[in-house]
Amino acid sequence: MSECTDCGVASNGAVLVDVDGETLCTSCADGHCERCGTETEATTIAGDFLCSECQEVQRGQETTREDGQGALGDFV
Ligand SMILES: [Zn+2]
Ligand SMILES: [Zn+2]
Repeated sequence: MSECTDCGVASNGAVLVDVDGETLCTSCADGHCERCGTETEATTIAGDFLCSECQEVQRGQETTREDGQGALGDFV
């Protein structure tokens, strides 16, 4: 069972990544997507590392929710 060598969080609910032989959670490991652990330089507006793929997923979920409220229409 591995845990983050920096903050000690266990893999339970946290994505752990290997950085130069050290196990770090994605919150401690700069440059890694907090959601899937992929190396990324992309960040959210909040400053969290989130790869473009996961940002797309997140955005997709948000827009899907908004689209639910009668968006069958005027995009002109
Ligand atoms: Zn950590
Ligand atoms: Zn990601």
